[in-house]
Amino acid sequence: MRLDLTLVNKTAWSSRDLRRFLLAGMRARGVEERTVIITYGKWDAHHGLGWYRYPQLQLSLPGPAAIARALAKGEEPIRYLELAQVLEHEIDHTLGLGHREMIDWWKLRPTWHEGITIEWEGEPVAISDIVRAAELPAPPTAVASSRSPRRRRLVRRYFTPPGARPRFTPPGGPL
Ligand SMILES: [Zn+2]
Repeated sequence: MRLDLTLVNKTAWSSRDLRRFLLAGMRARGVEERTVIITYGKWDAHHGLGWYRYPQLQLSLPGPAAIARALAKGEEPIRYLELAQVLEHEIDHTLGLGHREMIDWWKLRPTWHEGITIEWEGEPVAISDIVRAAELPAPPTAVASSRSPRRRRLVRRYFTPPGARPRFTPPGGPL
């Protein structure tokens, strides 16, 4: 099956990675052609919108402020299972299904997303923003020198190096 994906990516998440994720979901759901619009979400959960009987849908990913909030909690900014569930749900809307004909999206059990990660290609999120998001009383270095390997990995992937001038200012001002 030859898949035709038109990706309109309005975020700094990697378009190449998004294509891999979306194509895997389309293949799993058996749809050949879709336009997918990726935007920053209004709140921290992933959410989406599927056009009814029209091959277009929209998905939200976290923006810099939501990334800072997730990192402050030691969590991955993207919850891949949830994103895959929302994608399947929206694809079903584009096929003409309504909620009464669908099972709840959080009961969907996709596995096609496993092993696919989506990289952040925007400006690194500053430690000061993450500390502010967590309202931590400790100085930023306490986060950066965390003994938790998972947290250190997140630090390497997303944080501005300690001592570097924060380069990130959230759109619309401070968090
Ligand atoms: Zn719906």
